[in-house]
Amino acid sequence: MIKIYNTETKRKEEFVPIEEGKVRMYVCGPTVYNFIHIGNARPMIVFDTVRRYFEYKGYDVNFVSNFTDVDDKIIKKAIEEGVSADEISQRYIAECKKDMAGMNIKPATTHPLATQEIDGMIEMISDLIEKGYAYPVNGTVYFRTRKFDSYGKLSHKNLDDLRAGNRTLLVSGEDEKEDPLDFVLWKPKKEGEPAWVSPWGEGRPGWHIECSVMSKKYLGEQIDIHGGGEDLVFPHHENEIAQSEACCGKVFTRYWMHNAFLNIDNKKMSKSLGNFFTVREISEKYDLQILRFFMLQAHYRSPLNFSAELMEASKNSLDRIVTAAENLKHFIGNSAEKEMTAEETASLEEVKAFVQKFEEAMDDDFNTADAISAVFELVKYANTHASADNAKSYLETLRKTLTDLCDILGVIVEKEEELLDADIENLIAERQAARKAKDFARADEIRNELLEKGIILKDTREGVQWKRA
Ligand code: AMP
Ligand code: ZN
Repeated sequence: MIKIYNTETKRKEEFVPIEEGKVRMYVCGPTVYNFIHIGNARPMIVFDTVRRYFEYKGYDVNFVSNFTDVDDKIIKKAIEEGVSADEISQRYIAECKKDMAGMNIKPATTHPLATQEIDGMIEMISDLIEKGYAYPVNGTVYFRTRKFDSYGKLSHKNLDDLRAGNRTLLVSGEDEKEDPLDFVLWKPKKEGEPAWVSPWGEGRPGWHIECSVMSKKYLGEQIDIHGGGEDLVFPHHENEIAQSEACCGKVFTRYWMHNAFLNIDNKKMSKSLGNFFTVREISEKYDLQILRFFMLQAHYRSPLNFSAELMEASKNSLDRIVTAAENLKHFIGNSAEKEMTAEETASLEEVKAFVQKFEEAMDDDFNTADAISAVFELVKYANTHASADNAKSYLETLRKTLTDLCDILGVIVEKEEELLDADIENLIAERQAARKAKDFARADEIRNELLEKGIILKDTREGVQWKRA
């Protein structure tokens, strides 16, 4: 049983999916106006690990994460560089995907782009106006927060205090709003900005409506898990709830998960404070696997401080796991295929306890810190209970257990070996022989096996040509 800490109820709750065996999950993605910083990487790593654990548990996970590709900051950057906003967002989406690959973050099932979903946003805003939850004023459309009774249920804020605190806003130019907490769904075009035609005039959507529309389109009106950094609880997620629930009349998200911040020198790391490192900068000094491992050594709801010393410590810790996996591989290469002894069979029973410990930690609100401790116990065990004298099958089970657990964490401990040219030629020859014998299944299997390793075959009149992708 997986338990999740739900920001809304402030307790750990048993995970019960809307649809059996399936998880519908939405994670707010980055605004793409620059390289992502390592703070932005934290939710990516955390929720990718959550996804991997669900998959390991046999769930079919529909994982949606957007790119916010229309925003003031993107427009500002475009003006600075004298290029289009589109060029900026396309460039940094591509760079972000490279960083994600380096951190071994799986691509989402869908990565929607806000600019590709404008029609859906206009539709939802129109619907909200029709239902009395939104109102247009001079080309701007606002959400009427007072009409949505449970506004504030996620962030547990005292709305009257907030309203009082925000009253000054009303005086300073936003006097078109009925209530200081009303937020923008659609804003009118300013000169030189990207804009779309709408019933309220040319303009662009507000940030909050994007996520409501994209999660509804790709996951349905109700989703299991919604994730993001803790700074998104208010107002972003509170507003998403208001929009989606006012529109659909159903509970929008069952479990709200929020990661704590990554700090630097014990101060919040952020672009506006200028105290940040990009993932790209870190990748010049360290393998990004180390960054991933560093992040997972803390529980996702605990603040995490970044420092060079902690990264060095993570590097050494990860090295211990990698070395253990490499040693096992070396022993396997030198071991004999023989029956497992009774002692070996008993040993593998003991190993199951580490797997159980790992699962218990992950079941408890994805406690990766304790899960990693279980991996180290396994490493210690493998270091003292394996040698080339063991049965091959025993060693293989040990190794697979270790690599499977690391795979759930998304930490790569064994690099895929590159195929040598000779191996490739041999496989191609085997494929030709299979084809000659009309064993097309085997021939296709070899082709796919090569493709997985990045080898592309081309059948030509002169024979088979191949190249590395
Ligand atoms: P943004 O591009 O600012 O919208 O941020 C994208 C994601 O990164 C959001 O989920 C933020 O909450 C998260 N985030 C931003 N800075 C940090 C940080 N220092 N630590 C952890 N998460 C962060
Ligand atoms: Zn969002």
